[in-house]
Amino acid sequence: MSSANVIEIFSSVQGEGKYIGCRQVFVRLADCNLRCDYCDTDFRRADFCKVETAAGAMTFHDVKNPLDAAQVSEVIKKFCGEVPTQAISFTGGEPLLHWQFVRDVADAVKSLGVKNFLETNGTLPDELAKALDAVDVISMDIKLGQNLLRLHEKFLRVAHGKDLYVKVVVTGDTTFEEFLSAVEMVAGVDENILLIVQPVTPVAEAKAPSAEKILSFQAAALRRLKNVRVIPQTHKLISVL
Ligand code: SF4
Repeated sequence: MSSANVIEIFSSVQGEGKYIGCRQVFVRLADCNLRCDYCDTDFRRADFCKVETAAGAMTFHDVKNPLDAAQVSEVIKKFCGEVPTQAISFTGGEPLLHWQFVRDVADAVKSLGVKNFLETNGTLPDELAKALDAVDVISMDIKLGQNLLRLHEKFLRVAHGKDLYVKVVVTGDTTFEEFLSAVEMVAGVDENILLIVQPVTPVAEAKAPSAEKILSFQAAALRRLKNVRVIPQTHKLISVL
């Protein structure tokens, strides 16, 4: 059975995207293949995984890393027994760097009948193909300004057919041209793919976009895509994880 360096496992509310507000168990995996300016996640490998003491308790105990898939699936089963849960979210970092682990955990918790939700930066299409049948929902980020659109397109074509949406974080520095090129890429795959425009939560160097900018970006996207929604992060507003 596979193992991985896991940063934390906890039960909370999904704070972003199409399934905002849903109760999920989060499995945050270490490592990322990108370095985004606005990244607010510490995805470095840790000696110990922080495991919530009970679903939603927001207190943690340490478990030595790496964890194997059986250990993680036992925690998920315990949390789902404590709180009715709408999905298991594999997040990171970039969870597809551990695609075999994601598969093994998803298989081990199949009997729960809970959906498996993948939060990904959309740059590892070959790894997605290997984990695809274990995943029910794909939340794919489009990363602007990193010359990744061709890779994102390849990823979207692999993901197409799943319950899929794309999320693009917009900052005060995002240009109209780079945003539109992302919209065109998505439209080229399927104009029915849901696009979420997520104004950045200002951290570190990231500047929030103006209201005018957000509205003009959405208007432009709606000329090419059928479903475009503006949704900021919400979990930080209510101080949940
Ligand atoms: S892909 Fe996500 S986790 Fe990785 S650097 Fe970018 S924001 Fe951070």
